[in-house]
Amino acid sequence: MLINIDELSAGEYRELEFEENISIPKSYSEFTQVPVVVKGRLFKVGDDIRFEGNAKAALRLICDSCLTEFSKTIEFPVFGTFKRETDDDEDYLYSENVIDSESMVLSELLLNFPMRNVCRQDCKGLCVKCGHNLNISDCGCIRTEGNPEFEKLKALFDQEV
Ligand SMILES: [Zn+2]
Ligand SMILES: [Zn+2]
Repeated sequence: MLINIDELSAGEYRELEFEENISIPKSYSEFTQVPVVVKGRLFKVGDDIRFEGNAKAALRLICDSCLTEFSKTIEFPVFGTFKRETDDDEDYLYSENVIDSESMVLSELLLNFPMRNVCRQDCKGLCVKCGHNLNISDCGCIRTEGNPEFEKLKALFDQEV
């Protein structure tokens, strides 16, 4: 979002609350539009503009285990310094009297994006034999449990006895 900083003078701060749709890369989620609500304060330090706040993002995700779509809300801090000129990757640039919050919100969102996504703690996943979603019902397949390597060792052991 574009935020006008015209009226902001040094030593003052402004409370802000805004919503924006952030586009994320497909490698993070199939659902690339993420609605984010950001709350925080904006203040001026010399020529720099600093933002500090928190955000809530409503994610749509695919369960790693059963491949079903589900939603999850994550909360994370959002902060950054906007400068007229910078060589530092950590900072954001601004020009005229406007800062653009989007790249700041995007980088904090990606930093806090969950690595593993499971629809619920006890997700049973898909049947390895027929692909049926075991959260809905059992398909009746006989699935051998355990580590195949261990099964091989056990077979060897049984032969020797
Ligand atoms: Zn699941
Ligand atoms: Zn099955």
